[in-house]
Amino acid sequence: MVELVSDPLKLYELKTRKSKVLFEEASSYMPFGVSSNYRCFEPYPIYLKRGKGSKVWDVDGNEYTDYILGFGALEVGHAHPRIVEEIRNATEESTILGFEYEKTIELAKIIRNRYNVDMVRFSSTGTEATMHAIRIARAYTKRKKIIKFEGHYHGSHDQVLLNINPMKKESRVPSSLGIPEEVLVNTLVAEWNNYESVEKLVKAHPNDIAAIIMEPVAMNMGLILPEKDFLKGIFDLAKEYNFLVIFDEVKTGGKFYSGAAGYYGLKPDLITLAKSIAGGLPLSVIGGRKEVMSVIGPGSTAHGGTFNANPLSIRVALVTLKEILTQQALYKISTLSEKLQKGYEDIADDLDIDLTVVRWGPSGMIYFSEKAPKNYKEFMKLDFQTWFSYFYYMIYRDILPMAGFNEQWTISIAHTEDDIIDHIEKAEEAIKVAKNEKLNLDLFEAF
Ligand code: PMP
Repeated sequence: MVELVSDPLKLYELKTRKSKVLFEEASSYMPFGVSSNYRCFEPYPIYLKRGKGSKVWDVDGNEYTDYILGFGALEVGHAHPRIVEEIRNATEESTILGFEYEKTIELAKIIRNRYNVDMVRFSSTGTEATMHAIRIARAYTKRKKIIKFEGHYHGSHDQVLLNINPMKKESRVPSSLGIPEEVLVNTLVAEWNNYESVEKLVKAHPNDIAAIIMEPVAMNMGLILPEKDFLKGIFDLAKEYNFLVIFDEVKTGGKFYSGAAGYYGLKPDLITLAKSIAGGLPLSVIGGRKEVMSVIGPGSTAHGGTFNANPLSIRVALVTLKEILTQQALYKISTLSEKLQKGYEDIADDLDIDLTVVRWGPSGMIYFSEKAPKNYKEFMKLDFQTWFSYFYYMIYRDILPMAGFNEQWTISIAHTEDDIIDHIEKAEEAIKVAKNEKLNLDLFEAF
């Protein structure tokens, strides 16, 4: 007799047998078989072969509709023909020149106008950009301490690896081994959407805060918007106590035409951009006020990198920002995202289940809860057992809905109405299964 399998995790394993074999092989050569802890996955990750448009294919031959999009880095979709063409042309003319590349100036101007900053410097990853932004803020203010928020992620450098996804109850939880306590002494942690928690830290160290760094829309604990006037309150506090505001727009920068700063009509002292701005190539930006950016230079404040502003990334970023991620394109992907949100809300009504959707432009997240969390502590109280069941069932039904429990969907310009209709149909099935079949997986911090 054939046994019917309904456990979403078993269904995942049945579908991805070759990935399991590769994972076992990879684990002999790379810790956990992956190149980034964020790609660790229970019971093993999917190994992909290629992508095109909104689809990706794995080693077992499965085709998935991709809403992960390289953790939001690929709003242009996979293998966009114009980007493929530009990469071909660019590589013919060298991928690294050592001196400055002429087209970098055009990109600097575009970023300056689009993101309302006076000056920019380019690096390659989000991690580098936030690391430099913090150094610049310290050099400018001649102060040591920074404030970050619990649940916010700013990359993989020591001073920001604190309270990212703490599973422990302590108030200060380093997010990695190997970081000396002395490094973290100058990193203070506040609670998102809790103005008093920021004010308290500032008042305790009135002359020592160099900067506050934040994801202006939190996107590493699901998706949590800032409450009304929360950001404005922080800007006022920064003015009063002379510290800088850094918007880490590595994720948010690509969601709206001028990022979160433009969306909320604010002008932070420094911003960082990365992910989708270079159409899937490594490029990041530190941008900000002229006075602040001017501290960078030989003999004063360090900023360097062999691959910084390499011609390949610069050319692809120019194509991405000028031709692909236009106002109209971003409007279109937000509209599709709104359809997806509506689809999930209808499912919640039909199935009479507590489900809340939070959406910001082309990205969104579903919570199995009556209301949306407003900070990390509320986020961690959510029902993840139902979420995991929904998640693995979606993958079984060929949809990669988001990268994990603390991520969100992204819609690319390659996604279609049909993709969304298909997503909603399968989500209804997945949520029906998840109502009855919970998955009790351990949450772990993928720092
Ligand atoms: N800041 C934010 C807000 C991010 O989401 C990320 C990556 N998820 C980073 C910084 C680090 O970027 P990268 O992985 O390119 O170093």
